[in-house]
Amino acid sequence: MAASTANVLADCSLTSYLRHPDRALDGRIAAARRNLGRRVLILGHHYQRDEVIHFADYTGDSFRLARRAMEHPEAEYIIFCGVHFMAESADVLRGPGQQVILPDLNAGCSMADMAEFTQVEDAWEQLEALGLAAEIVPITYINSTAAIKAFCGEHGGLVCTSSNAQAALRWALARKPRVLFLPDQHLGRNTGHQIGIGLEEMAVWNPRQELGGNDASRLRGSRLLLWKGHCSVHQRFLPQHVDQCRAEDPTVRVIVHPECSFEVAQKADQTGSTDFIIRAIESAPAGASWAVGTELHLVHRLAQQHPEQKIIPLDRNACPVCTTMFRISPQHLCWVLENLAQGEVVNPIRVPEGVKRGARLALDRMLALA
Ligand code: SF4
Repeated sequence: MAASTANVLADCSLTSYLRHPDRALDGRIAAARRNLGRRVLILGHHYQRDEVIHFADYTGDSFRLARRAMEHPEAEYIIFCGVHFMAESADVLRGPGQQVILPDLNAGCSMADMAEFTQVEDAWEQLEALGLAAEIVPITYINSTAAIKAFCGEHGGLVCTSSNAQAALRWALARKPRVLFLPDQHLGRNTGHQIGIGLEEMAVWNPRQELGGNDASRLRGSRLLLWKGHCSVHQRFLPQHVDQCRAEDPTVRVIVHPECSFEVAQKADQTGSTDFIIRAIESAPAGASWAVGTELHLVHRLAQQHPEQKIIPLDRNACPVCTTMFRISPQHLCWVLENLAQGEVVNPIRVPEGVKRGARLALDRMLALA
């Protein structure tokens, strides 16, 4: 064994990796990858930085990536370059003998953290006391903890993504008159409006207040209870950003993610999931002009992939980056891979079996929607 390789293997602590600048470890990542072969599958979320995406076997949104893991039962290790709830979903859906790894356990999601399990339990108890819980189907956006997914599964509800939120809402409202939508109020409001629910039929549930900050009659008059959560990245986009882009280029088409506020979604030309945004741009003719309201890494990548079009971020004066996802670095990836090459699994994600059952139920109901 060459002396330099021996030194690498002798020091597998994370701090020894973090000393290296980005891209300095590319050769080592590639070598460890080759060494592990098909035993490893690397998944990269659309919002992940380029230095990491470069090594991904697949890129996609959280749900599509979890499905990819299911399609590769030969992969013993699934390295999820995304955030915590995504790795949890992959662990719930994975096959026997597979292990899911999150390169940095601090890569969380501020939106998922806005619905804590005990808060949801407490809200449900209050709704029970009002006699409303029996009339409610809970739906959780996939951007939530496995415990929240399990809660929804065990209470007759399901998971949704930004691609199938309309179908999930229709499914739920065909069964019961009301929905509790967790944890993103904006996706819930935008989707509810798209299927014809009036804003006056929606109430926001603030988990820090009694009855979510509502009186009982307001709750009784609502078909859609929107948990007071949001994405810190998408909430930064404002209606004036849309106005500004149009003033600068009257031909621009504004396309935004439904985690943006209702006001922004209403002003935009198109609203849809990351997949929807990517497909819209891929199918546009040369010369098309876009202002895109979603995470900056994806917007930059789209601009690089489509130089024949003009693609700019909806807000050019801010930096709408998912800072938690940014924590997954090439250094972390190299650390995980070189440890695996030595038989050490670092940062495994293991959802407790009891939670897994309920979460799987909620995910399976979503899969059945198609
Ligand atoms: S972009 Fe927003 S919702 Fe998505 S992972 Fe980051 S904080 Fe969470």
